[in-house]
Amino acid sequence: MDAVSKKLMPPTQPREFGFYVDGRFIPPGKREVFERASPGHDVPVTRIPKCTEDDLDVAVASARLAFEDRRWSGLAGGDRAAVLLKAAEIIRARHEEIAYWECLENGKPIAQARAEVGGCIGMFEYASGLARALHGDSFNNLGDSMFGIVTREPVGVVGLITPWNFPFLILCERVPYILASGCTLVVKPSEVTSATTLILAEILSEAGLPDGVMNVVTGSGSTIGQAMTEHMDIDMLSFTGSTNVGRSCVAASGKSNFKKLGLELGGKNPQIVFADADLEDAADGVAFGIAFNTGQCCVSGSRLIVERSVADEFAGMVADKLAKIRVGDPLDEQTQVGAITTDAQNRTIMSYIERGQKEGATLVCGGVQLDFGQGQYIAPTLFKDVDSDMAIAKDEIFGPVLTVQSFETVDEAIQMANDTVYGLAASVWTKNIDKALMVTRQVQAGRFWVNTTLSGGPELPLGGFKQSGWGREAGMMGVEEYTQVKSVHIEIGKRSPWVA
Ligand code: NAD
Repeated sequence: MDAVSKKLMPPTQPREFGFYVDGRFIPPGKREVFERASPGHDVPVTRIPKCTEDDLDVAVASARLAFEDRRWSGLAGGDRAAVLLKAAEIIRARHEEIAYWECLENGKPIAQARAEVGGCIGMFEYASGLARALHGDSFNNLGDSMFGIVTREPVGVVGLITPWNFPFLILCERVPYILASGCTLVVKPSEVTSATTLILAEILSEAGLPDGVMNVVTGSGSTIGQAMTEHMDIDMLSFTGSTNVGRSCVAASGKSNFKKLGLELGGKNPQIVFADADLEDAADGVAFGIAFNTGQCCVSGSRLIVERSVADEFAGMVADKLAKIRVGDPLDEQTQVGAITTDAQNRTIMSYIERGQKEGATLVCGGVQLDFGQGQYIAPTLFKDVDSDMAIAKDEIFGPVLTVQSFETVDEAIQMANDTVYGLAASVWTKNIDKALMVTRQVQAGRFWVNTTLSGGPELPLGGFKQSGWGREAGMMGVEEYTQVKSVHIEIGKRSPWVA
């Protein structure tokens, strides 16, 4: 497809997918099928099977067999790396196709989807190196008669549950790392954005991943997702989604097999702006941080905490930026912000906008649904006169809604930033190194940005403090998460007897 010159259109027919077990695609057969409409165009774009719990059991059994017979975990890291590198090459070749389906199911702009797929190629390339770099430790300091080795072994069968906001990116922040560790897996994508996960399964098969190592079971969270959390034969569950469902994963693990959990949950992330910042840069970054991906981003900078002396001026600068953002058709190359992904999310965001006004906050800009004749769109929204006990200041809205609060001292800024149950991400804007470091060290957040926001890559680990989750994905830690550590004590020479 010629990305630049040809105007992209939604498909005339929805694309049909099967689910993927033991190296083959299984058509829906008698199963129910979920027809996904593009949130930007209101036309059906994909048809995805609703799998049953029996399908899940078959997929888990396939992953179990593939793990136990060591067809993947028994390979040298270099051989696993070769498959991951080949997958990166195929993703590069199918870049445009993946971005197109991502854009259609999610509603994100095509230019953004392309950039995300580019980032995913980097994830596979980087993780391929980690397959070779993964290693344990040894202790030669235990005396002449003892030698210690620490090994890292793949944890086993991993269940991976992903959300709808970055279906391919979040998948690729996990899958190559899980595969690098030697684990096998069963993936359940969000029911509304399954297409690109199924495309990845096809790509990995073509890249030489042995059958059964990665399986994809499609369906709802309440059936397949819940059954995965309770499954006795899944050794580890990596869940990315809401804090409420994360809580139910913890409960289900305790009631089943104590499966290891990796949890990446919600956030209500502060953007702290000091008066000495480059305010032009900061306004641009703050607008990007809340509007990118329509604010449906776990790391969206949704709370602007700005030094009082510049608060009014800065809020005005951000409002000007928000008003200029090009919202519209996700398939239009020029669009910066696309559609709201689901009807339910659209209603949630609009209800928070209404609630903010009822609770006494002042709407500075946005706050309305935009009418393009099709799809569901919300104008980037800014509230001032916000108190920290208002719902718009406390809850994760997961939409393009920014609140402004102001502070006088560094300590007050830190206290306001930490005044949340979450601890996923934070940004600070200042030209003063002392302030930047004080804030970075004292605000509880797993990801931090100084004079920028929402940047990232395969090298740095991702994860949250507090109720934003457990564990880390990506980076070397992203592979280590999917391993168990074994300590081996080796006696050298003749044992000194215990019984004379
Ligand atoms: P969600 O929790 O509703 O769903 C996430 C996934 O869990 C989906 O695949 C869904 O089908 C499944 N699911 C739903 N109920 C389940 C259950 N009872 N048991 C097991 N699985 C179940 O979240 P969402 O609406 O898809 O995504 C939005 C949320 O995800 C936001 O809270 C956001 O902050 C969070 N999120 C976090 C990160 C991160 O890295 N921290 C990234 C993206 C999204």
